[in-house]
Amino acid sequence: MATPMIYELIKQLFHKPATNCFPLKYYPSNTTVTDLIKKVQKGEAKINSPVAIPEKFRGKIIYEREKCIGCRLCIKVCPSRAIEFIPEEKKIKIRIDRCIFCSQCNDICPVNCLHMSENFLLANENRFSEELIVK
Ligand code: SF4
Ligand code: SF4
Repeated sequence: MATPMIYELIKQLFHKPATNCFPLKYYPSNTTVTDLIKKVQKGEAKINSPVAIPEKFRGKIIYEREKCIGCRLCIKVCPSRAIEFIPEEKKIKIRIDRCIFCSQCNDICPVNCLHMSENFLLANENRFSEELIVK
């Protein structure tokens, strides 16, 4: 006996895919994901256009270091302890591997020196990579 599920499955056969191939349709076997992302960032490789980035998307944090007054409010509100204080410089550094992109640091910063970017290409084989540290 046909169930609503079967009707839905048949209907979906004639629909365009809701997702797209990302990042590449054919992934080169001699390239690591990290290398591929670096190539894309340098403009040496092109990825399929991802779906449009929604408004207020929370990607990798941007830190305007020179504006920071070292108040540490961001450290107090960060739920994942992703932000460390550098006492000798009175500045911070953010570990993106720990960040959950909640934007609380961004919201509380009194001098507005933290921002959520649209950058979501953050895959890295080494969680301690310099690329995952914002300072
Ligand atoms: S976005 Fe959230 S998790 Fe990430 S550093 Fe800021 S407060 Fe911490
Ligand atoms: S809240 Fe803003 S000004 Fe204060 S330490 Fe964090 S980044 Fe610097």
